[in-house]
Amino acid sequence: MKVQYADILIIGSGIAGLSFAIKLLRENPELRIVMATKGEVEEGSTRYAQGGIAVVLDQLRDNFESHIQDTLAASGGFADPQIVEMVVRQAPERLHELEEWGAHFDKNRKGKPDLALEGGHSVPRVVHARDSTGKEVARSLSAAALRFPQLEILSHHFAIDLHIYGDTPRCGGAWLLSPQGDAFPVIAPITLLATGGCGQLFSATTNPLIATGDGVAAAIRAHIPVLDLHTLQFHPTALYLPGKQPSFLLTEALRGFGAYVVNHDQERFLFATDPRGELATRDIVTRAIWKELSASGADNVFIDARHLDPKALEKAFPTVVAYCRLAGFDPTRVRVPVAPAAHYQCGGIYTDAHGRTIMPGLFAAGECASTGMHGRNRLASNSLLEALVFAHRAAKYILSHPPLLQAPSIPKSPLYMESGAPPIATIRIRKQLQQMMTNFYMGILDATEIIALASTQLHEFEMHLPNDVASLELRNLCVLALGVIENAESGEIFTNEKRRELALHTEKFWN
Ligand SMILES: Cc1cc2nc3c(=O)[nH]c(=O)nc-3n(C[C@H](O)[C@H](O)[C@H](O)COP(=O)(O)OP(=O)(O)OC[C@H]3O[C@@H](n4cnc5c(N)ncnc54)[C@H](O)[C@@H]3O)c2cc1C
Repeated sequence: MKVQYADILIIGSGIAGLSFAIKLLRENPELRIVMATKGEVEEGSTRYAQGGIAVVLDQLRDNFESHIQDTLAASGGFADPQIVEMVVRQAPERLHELEEWGAHFDKNRKGKPDLALEGGHSVPRVVHARDSTGKEVARSLSAAALRFPQLEILSHHFAIDLHIYGDTPRCGGAWLLSPQGDAFPVIAPITLLATGGCGQLFSATTNPLIATGDGVAAAIRAHIPVLDLHTLQFHPTALYLPGKQPSFLLTEALRGFGAYVVNHDQERFLFATDPRGELATRDIVTRAIWKELSASGADNVFIDARHLDPKALEKAFPTVVAYCRLAGFDPTRVRVPVAPAAHYQCGGIYTDAHGRTIMPGLFAAGECASTGMHGRNRLASNSLLEALVFAHRAAKYILSHPPLLQAPSIPKSPLYMESGAPPIATIRIRKQLQQMMTNFYMGILDATEIIALASTQLHEFEMHLPNDVASLELRNLCVLALGVIENAESGEIFTNEKRRELALHTEKFWN
């Protein structure tokens, strides 16, 4: 069996994984870093981000306190004020660093950053690259990372499970599945989980196919605390094309730009729920749309941008306009059908302010982490920012606390390498689970059937676990579904007092 060694193992090549690698290697070129990613390097939610990155840059019209208050308000009062303040105050520095690494963002006529307004923000503060900010971020970060020969990128390698070892457990790397179907361990004293979200748990999602919550499921299997899995954010305005996966997003910035949300009777019904109408936060707009859909029996509502200057609309949103036209809905001429779709996982693997999980040797950053930044609901364009800040914090921590030198022991072969298991109907069961989870969130299905399906499937995987990605993803989606439902049924959100307790445990375990 092949065994690979590294100083640091990074799982995931989105904004969190890539910026973490770049930061470490710029400051310590001696480090041997292995990055495993389950698809191509640039494939992940990062490259699909449209709106941008929230940063206070215009000190005349904006200030840190306002960004902090907007974030806390969106979070339903559950975000950790200390974390929010730290992230918001670090934002300008992290943005400039991103620019130094090669990212270009739009500028206005005066050569200053062109700041967009998005739902839940009091003032325009979203830095963007037209309406495809994520593409620019993914392009620049992957180009910058690939310049380091010490970074070994294993694309199409699927992280199956963490390697936990010792009487006082530590994380010593992870098991990967190669594209040829061979499982092997990467042994490293430091591991970063940067595996993104879990939108694929639902039938309608803006998340790419890779978003199956693998890192969170691996953490659950390793008994590492994960928090608030039920705080899943649905984006209110994804293009409604039944059966299309993933759903194409009509960015929040469109509503900031003046587009309306209307029902089949052309009414701007959102004002009945919130005086901010189209500019209310995502959770509020989504709930209002679901309410409208169940009252009217319709499958979708509409984004109406026909009253806006067509040239300005095309200039500001070239990707959205082109995509909608291709789908048969020219937004300058017709209303575009939209419906909510699963978009962002606000909860995740608990981390402290350094990105440390409770398990020594294991960090988490990006969408798979629960840092205290989002509470019940993430404010638009705060997630790319959060990923940058926590990747930075984790890298800084590692650089000032050099990892253990001794290599952890080689783990025993896991079950899946020994069993020649028969394939199962993964696609059918995945679709069934996705539809059930969507119905559960819309309030039209209770949890019983989901628990039965996921538990039966997990039981089957305990007997026979095929070594193919589709089965491993389904196993993770089942773990996630049970975790989400357990949290949703209690309805509780992890409080900041409880986070402080976990922070104390984390400190103790790491020392
Ligand atoms: C359509 C869309 C628009 C968005 N717009 C915005 C926006 O405007 N502003 C904003 O702030 N946020 C936005 N978001 C959210 C934001 O893009 C994500 O939260 C963020 O990019 C997540 O970054 P990440 O590095 O955590 O994960 P990702 O970018 O999703 O990367 C995850 C990585 O992990 C790898 N991976 C996963 N599982 C495994 C495994 N088992 N083994 C190996 N590798 C694995 C994947 O291959 C991938 O490389 C948007 C999201 C979507 C989907």
